Amino acid sequence: MKDCIFCKIAAGEIPSDKIYEDDKVVAFMDIRPVSRGHALVLPKLHAADIVETPDDVIADVMKQAKRIAVSIQHALNADGFTISTNRGEAAGQTVFHLHFHIIPRYRKDGLKPWPHQETEPRTRTQLAEEIKKHL
Ligand code: AMP
Ligand code: ZN
Repeated sequence: MKDCIFCKIAAGEIPSDKIYEDDKVVAFMDIRPVSRGHALVLPKLHAADIVETPDDVIADVMKQAKRIAVSIQHALNADGFTISTNRGEAAGQTVFHLHFHIIPRYRKDGLKPWPHQETEPRTRTQLAEEIKKHL
């Protein structure tokens, strides 16, 4: 897609530090890493986010994301990794071409866990019922 930075990186029109590439998937280093070795894995096909992307394409991308994440962990001697994707500005999405973040985790990386909250059992049950109606 014209004017999409990740389409341009996938096409080699903008430089990146590529880790992996095949006919459908590309992975490269994040320019502003959250941790040492933070990488992005995405489809070459342009789609704004996970909801807009066909399931078979997501499957191709996730298959490589798992493989690349394990490789990063081994290569950098990380203690684990987080794989995530943002959908929408409210979730923190800034580039509207689906991408999965692979964030290597280190025991002393200083990244804070998400702030968990307490809930009432009744609230959880109500939420589950609401969600099930939309499946
Ligand atoms: P998100 O906020 O989930 O949309 O993630 C976008 C990610 O893309 C951020 O982690 C950015 O640091 C990264 N990013 C933006 N531009 C580039 C670029 N030219 N090369 C590599 N990573 C980039
Ligand atoms: Zn794109």
